[in-house]
Amino acid sequence: MDAGIISSPTSYLKHRLGPLPAERQLGDLEAWWQRSGKVSSATIDRQGTPWLRMFDRFGARVDEILYPPEYWEMLRTGYRAGAVWRAFAEESLLGPYQIGYVTSFFDPGLYCPYIVSLATAVPLFKYAESSVREQFLPFLLRRDDSVWQGATWMTEAGGGSDLGANVETVARRSEGKWLLTGEKYFASNAGADLAVVAARPEGGASGVRGLALFLLPRRKVDGSLNYLIRRLKDKTGTRSVPTGEVELHASEAYLLGDAAKGIYSILEVLNLSRVANSIGSVGLSQRALSEAWTFAEKRIAFGKPIIDQPLLRRQFDARMETLKAAFCLAWECVTLLNQVWRETPPYSERYHLFRLVAHLSKYWTAEVAVDMAEWAMKVHGGMGVLAEYPVERLLREAMVLPIWEGTPHRQILDGLEVMMRKKAHRLLLDYLVERGGEPETLTPLQAVAETWLALEPEAREAEGESYFRALAEQTARTLTLLPR
Ligand SMILES: Cc1cc2nc3c(=O)[nH]c(=O)nc-3n(C[C@H](O)[C@H](O)[C@H](O)COP(=O)(O)OP(=O)(O)OC[C@H]3O[C@@H](n4cnc5c(N)ncnc54)[C@H](O)[C@@H]3O)c2cc1C
Repeated sequence: MDAGIISSPTSYLKHRLGPLPAERQLGDLEAWWQRSGKVSSATIDRQGTPWLRMFDRFGARVDEILYPPEYWEMLRTGYRAGAVWRAFAEESLLGPYQIGYVTSFFDPGLYCPYIVSLATAVPLFKYAESSVREQFLPFLLRRDDSVWQGATWMTEAGGGSDLGANVETVARRSEGKWLLTGEKYFASNAGADLAVVAARPEGGASGVRGLALFLLPRRKVDGSLNYLIRRLKDKTGTRSVPTGEVELHASEAYLLGDAAKGIYSILEVLNLSRVANSIGSVGLSQRALSEAWTFAEKRIAFGKPIIDQPLLRRQFDARMETLKAAFCLAWECVTLLNQVWRETPPYSERYHLFRLVAHLSKYWTAEVAVDMAEWAMKVHGGMGVLAEYPVERLLREAMVLPIWEGTPHRQILDGLEVMMRKKAHRLLLDYLVERGGEPETLTPLQAVAETWLALEPEAREAEGESYFRALAEQTARTLTLLPR
C-alpha cells in the first residue's frame, strides 16, 4: 500500500470496497476539506466551546449558539453532499456512512451532527404518524442550506448506561398533546430543529420497558422555544458539535410508534450511532496513521528516516493490518445495518446478528482509534504533544469514542445478552461461512464464544472483556481474509 492511499479517505474506501457509486461526490467533498475545511476545522477546535447567547436585549430567551460563519459552511457541506438525504433518495445507508468516513478523517466531531440528524430522520420515517412524518421529515431531507438538523437525547444526569433507572423525563398527555418535562444532561447538537428524546409516559412501567421515544421540535406550534439550553459543555474534543444541557418544561412532543415498544426504537436510534462511531473511529485511525507516516518519512534519526528503522517499520506494518481489520469490521456492520434498518419488532435473525456485530465493532474500533492516536503521538516524539500540530487533536478527539453511544462495559454486556438470548454468535459463524469463510478457520472464534458462555453467570460477566475483545478482533481479522 502506498502513502497516497493512506492519506486519502476516498482512496482508502475505494481500495477496500472497489468502485464507489458516488466516488466523484466523495472526491469533491474530500477536495473541499483539503482546500478549506481543514483550516476552518482547526480554527473551531482552537476556539473551544462556542458561545451561547441566552437572552435578547429585552430579556427574552433566545438560546442561540454562536459559531463563526466557517462552521456553518463546514457543517452544510456534508449535508449538501448527502449525509442524510441520500439514505432516503437512494434507499441505502451506504452513501451517508461513506460521507461519514470522509468527514471523520478530517473532523471526527463533525460526524456527530450528521449521524444524529440521520438517526432522527429514520425513526420519524418509520414510526411517526403520517401527518407528523409529512410535516417534519421533508425539512431533514432538504438538499440545500435550509436543511434542518436532528439530535438524539437520552442521557440524564443520573447516568447513561442504566437508562431504565435514570431517565426521569416524564411525558404527560394534555388536550391531545404530549408534553415532556425533564432535563437532558448530554445533548449533542443542542439547538437542533428536531430531536428524538427518551421519556417515560406518566404511569408507565418502571425500567427500560416503560420508556418511549418522542419527537421534540425546537419550536412550539406558536413559534416560541420548545426547549431551553441551560449551558454548553466545555469538552476536550468534538468541538465541532455543541453539547449542552437541555431543559424541557411541558415541551410539545409527538410519540414515535407504540409506547409499549419504545425501548426498541430507542435502541434502533443508538445502533445507527454506534455504527457511525465505528466508521468515525476507523476514519480517525486512518488519519492518525497517515499523519504518523508523513512525519516518519521525513524525520531523520541515526542516519535515515525513522520509518526505515526496523522497529518502527514493524509497528507501521502491524498498524496497517489493524486498520484493515477495523475497517472490515466497521464496514461489515454498515452492510448488515443496510439490510435491516427498515425492520420493526419482532426482528429477524439478521437483525440480531447485526446487533452483535455492532457491539463488537463499536467496542473494538473505538479501542483501536484511541490506541492509534496515542501511537501516532509517540511517533511524533515531542512534536506530538504540541497543540499546533494535528496529532495532539486526534488523541483528544479519540477519547470520547469508547464512551459515547455506550461505554465498553455496555457493549460487552449487551453483546453477551444477544449471544445468550438469540444465539447471535452462531448466527455470526454461519454468516462468516456464507461470506466465504472456511469453516475450519472459524474454530478459534467458536471456541472463544462457547468457552465464554459456558462460564458461571458471575464469572461470565467479570471476565467478559478478554473474551469480547478476542471475539471482536478475531471477527475483524477473519473478515480481512474474505472476498469483498
Ligand atoms: C461529549 C459527549 C456528548 C454526548 N452526547 C450525547 C447525546 O447527544 N445524547 C445522549 O443521549 N447522550 C450523550 N452523551 C452521553 C453518553 O452517551 C454517556 O456519557 C454514556 O452513555 C455513558 O453514560 P455516563 O456518562 O452517564 O456513565 P455511567 O452510565 O454513569 O457509567 C459510568 C461507568 O460505569 C460503567 N458501568 C455502568 N454499568 C456497568 C456495569 N453493569 N458493569 C460494569 N461497568 C458499568 C460504565 O461503563 C462507565 O465506565 C454524550 C457524552 C459525551 C461525553
